[in-house]
Amino acid sequence: MTSKKTKPLIRTILEWGAVGALAIAAYLWFSPPPAPTLAEYVIAAKTKEGGHVRTIPSGNIDLDGFAANCKNTPLVLDNNFSDHAAAWPQSNFIIINQKYFAALPKVQKLFTFYHECGHIAGLRSELNADCYGVQQGLKLGWLDQKGLDQLCAYWRPKKGDAAHPPGKKRCERMIACFNKSAKQN
Ligand SMILES: [Zn+2]
Repeated sequence: MTSKKTKPLIRTILEWGAVGALAIAAYLWFSPPPAPTLAEYVIAAKTKEGGHVRTIPSGNIDLDGFAANCKNTPLVLDNNFSDHAAAWPQSNFIIINQKYFAALPKVQKLFTFYHECGHIAGLRSELNADCYGVQQGLKLGWLDQKGLDQLCAYWRPKKGDAAHPPGKKRCERMIACFNKSAKQN
């Protein structure tokens, strides 16, 4: 065997190695990370962001005068979190970014909180979590027709992303949930 003939073989091995490495990288990249525990999240957030994190074990939070609570789910207040809020149902805690929340009208704060609560209640779909938020609003008395209009004015122009359907669709579903739940109440 000449060296000319072994070269392509080596290259092939290297190429397959590269393909394999890429496949592993893609798998790691696209597979969802395991849910952190609350303690793990807090430690990571403090390390990364300089300690602007507070935990509320009782889950009680005042949102513009409304005493909100999601099944006593502990809350983590993290002003460096990348979104308004998020829920980790697997490890049972909710993250709230109060810096982003501060800019929201009261009804939107409450809707966001109870949308996350919908995820804690086991709803994976964003539309179902929206519906849960609306139902809680009617049940707890923080949502009326005017509030629903306000929510839709906020959501309708939003484009949506990989995880969330377009705002127009979300709003249609919220209205349907509102009308159905309002009839039942
Ligand atoms: Zn959601």
